Amino acid sequence: MTATVLDAALPNEPFRQAEDVVSAQTSSRAIPLIELQGVMRTFTTGGGVEVHALRGIDLKIYPGEFLAIVGQSGSGKSTLMNILGCLDRPTAGKYIFAGRDIESFDADGLAWLRREAFGFVFQSYNLLGTESALENVQVPAVYAGLNAHEREVRAESLLSALGLGDRMDHRPTQLSGGQQQRVSIARAMMNGGNIILADEPTGALDTQSGIEVMELLEDLAARGHTVILITHDQEVADHAERIIEFRDGEIVSDSGSKPENVDPKNNAKLRELFLSRKATSSLAGTGEAIRMALRSLKANIFRTMLTLLGIVIGVSSVVAMLAIGEGAQQDIIQIMNQLGTNVITVRPERLPGSFRSMPSTLTIEDAVALGSNVPNIVAAIPQMQSRNTSVRFGRNDTQTSVVATTGDMPEVESWPLAQGVFFTDADSENITSVAVLGSEARSDLFPDGQDPLGEYILIGNIPFQVIGILTSKGAQGFNNPDDTIYIPFRTGAVRVFGKNEADEIRVLVDDIEQIDQTQDNMLEYLTALHGTQDMRIDQNTSMLESASESQKTFTLLLGSVAAISLLVGGIGVMNIMLVSVTERTREIGVRMATGARQSDILSQFLAEAIVVSCFGGIIGVTLGVAVGLILESFDVSIYFSSTPMLLAFTCSVTTGLIFGFAPARKASQLDPVVALANE
Ligand code: ADP
Ligand code: MG
Repeated sequence: MTATVLDAALPNEPFRQAEDVVSAQTSSRAIPLIELQGVMRTFTTGGGVEVHALRGIDLKIYPGEFLAIVGQSGSGKSTLMNILGCLDRPTAGKYIFAGRDIESFDADGLAWLRREAFGFVFQSYNLLGTESALENVQVPAVYAGLNAHEREVRAESLLSALGLGDRMDHRPTQLSGGQQQRVSIARAMMNGGNIILADEPTGALDTQSGIEVMELLEDLAARGHTVILITHDQEVADHAERIIEFRDGEIVSDSGSKPENVDPKNNAKLRELFLSRKATSSLAGTGEAIRMALRSLKANIFRTMLTLLGIVIGVSSVVAMLAIGEGAQQDIIQIMNQLGTNVITVRPERLPGSFRSMPSTLTIEDAVALGSNVPNIVAAIPQMQSRNTSVRFGRNDTQTSVVATTGDMPEVESWPLAQGVFFTDADSENITSVAVLGSEARSDLFPDGQDPLGEYILIGNIPFQVIGILTSKGAQGFNNPDDTIYIPFRTGAVRVFGKNEADEIRVLVDDIEQIDQTQDNMLEYLTALHGTQDMRIDQNTSMLESASESQKTFTLLLGSVAAISLLVGGIGVMNIMLVSVTERTREIGVRMATGARQSDILSQFLAEAIVVSCFGGIIGVTLGVAVGLILESFDVSIYFSSTPMLLAFTCSVTTGLIFGFAPARKASQLDPVVALANE
C-alpha cells in the first residue's frame, strides 16, 4: 500500500522502482540518505595529465545530519560537493541516493534531484545579477512549476525570516556579502532544501556576517535539514555535529554519525522527504519563459538593440521593397491596360481554311447582353468600320476610316478627349448625325487650325456635326486610330454602312487576372445566345504573357533580396545569441544547479531569440511602411498589401527560431559544473 502512495507521489522516471526503497526503509537497518562507495573523480587536463581529485571515497550520510567536510585547499572538497549535489558524476564508484543508484539517472533525473532534494550555498553566492533578491529566491520554484503567486508568497516569507524583508527588491550589487549569502540560503530553502550543500559559505564574508550565516545553518540543521558544510576552516567546521577530514582526495578522519541519526526510525524521515515532493509540471511554462526572456533582454538593452537592428533592417527592406515592386507592377498593369491588354475582342468566325469572314451575326444587342450578363465586364462596345471613306469639309477632302461605335469607346480604349464631348448611347438611339474626330483626321480636314467643334463635315454625302476631338494616340501607319472619325453606332448602321451587324465587339474586362475565365464565359454565353458558335474570341495574350513573365522575374528578384536580408538578420541573431550564451554561462550553471532541466534552458534561450525577432518583425514592418510612405510622397508608386507584411513577419520569427536554436541548444548542453566554474 505504501508503495502505491509513493508511486503516486513520485511519477518521475528515477523513482519508478520505489518498492525496494520502501522495503528497505521498513527494515530494521537504517538507510543512509547518501552513500558513496569507492567514488573516484579524475580530471584529464589539456596536456593529458590526470588529476585524481577524489581517490576512492566511502561515505554514508544519514537524514538530518549536520556534517562538515574540512580540508586544505585543493584537497578535493568542491569536487566532492559537486558529486554529492548531482552537478557532476563520479569517474568510478557508486553514488546511492536514498537507496537508488544515481548511475541510472539521466540529465533530467539529476535536474529533478537537484531541484527537489538539494539547496546549494556557494562561496561566491552565485545570485543572478539582473534579478532582485525576491526573484533570485524564486528561481528554483520556477523550475519546480510552482505558480507565480505561491512562489512569491513563499519567497517573501523566507526572506523575511532571514531578516531581509526590507531588501526584497534589491539587486545583488545593492546588498552586502552577508545579505547576499542570506538570499542564497533563502534560495536553497525555496523548494524545501532537504539537503543544504554549503561550499565555503563564510569564505567571502567578514567575521560577523560569517557568524550569522553559521547560526543560520545550525538553525536549519536543528530543524531537521541535512546540512553538508564544506570548509577549509577548522573553527567553522567545529559548528557541525560530525567532522570529516579530507586530504589529497581521501578521507583521513571521520568523527562518525551520532547514534540517533543512524536510528532506523529515521527511515521514515527519508520517506517523508520523497512524499513531500510534488509532481512537477514538465516546463516552467511558455509564459514564464517569455517573461524571463523579456527580463534578460531588458537587462542587456544595448545588445538587444543590436540584435533587433539586423532583423529590423531585414524585415523593413522586405516590406518596403515589396511595396515598391508591387507599385511598379501596378504601373505596368496600368500602362498595359492603356495598350488594351484588358480588352477582349469578339469577331465573326472565319470560314475554315479561308481568310473570308462568315457574314457577321454580332449585334448591338449582343454587346449590351454581354455587358449585363457576363461578370467581370466593364463595358462592351460593338463596332463597324470602313477603311476608305471620303470625308469633306469645305474645300478639304480626305480618305479616312469611319468607325461606328457606342458611347463607351473612350473608356474601353482608355482614350480621353482633347476637346468637346463624345457622343452618347442616346445619340445612337436617336440616329443623330454627330462625329468625333481623331487628331489626324482633324488636321486633315481643318489644316488651318480653325475650331472644328460645331462645324459640319460630310461623310459620304451625309452631313455630320463635329462635337469632339480625341487626344493623339501617337500611332502611325495603316489603320491609324488617330486617322479615324467616330460616329454613333446606329447612325452609322442606318446612314453610312447600311447594315445592322457589327464587325467586332470590344470588351473591357475589370480584373485582368480573370481575363481567361471571362473569355471562356463570353464564348459560352454568346454560343448559347446564338445557338451556334459563329464567333471567335481573342485577347492580346502575347503581351499578357510577357507581362506575367516579367512579373515573375520581378517577384523572384525581390524574393531573393528578401531572403538574403532575412538571412543576414538571422545570422545576426545567432551571433549575438552565441555571445549571450558565452557571457551568461555562469547564469546557466546557477540555473542548472537550482534544478533547471536542459529543456528549460533551451526554451529560455529560444524564447529570447523569438521575442527579439518578434519585436524586430513588428518594428521592421512599421519602418518598412514608413519608408514606403516617405517614398510615396516623392511620387514613387507604392502599393501596400498585407500578405508580404505577414510573410516578412512570419519569416523573421522563423528566422529567430532557426538561428536561435543552435545557441540555445549549446546553452542547454552545458555541463553544470563547467558552467558554474565559468568566470
Ligand atoms: P578544494 O575544493 O578542496 O579546494 P577542488 O575539489 O576544487 O579542491 O580540487 C581538487 C583537485 O582537483 C585540485 O587539484 C584541482 O586542481 C583539481 N580540479 C578540480 N576541478 C578540475 C577540473 N575541472 N579540471 C582539472 N582539475 C581539476
Ligand atoms: Mg573548493
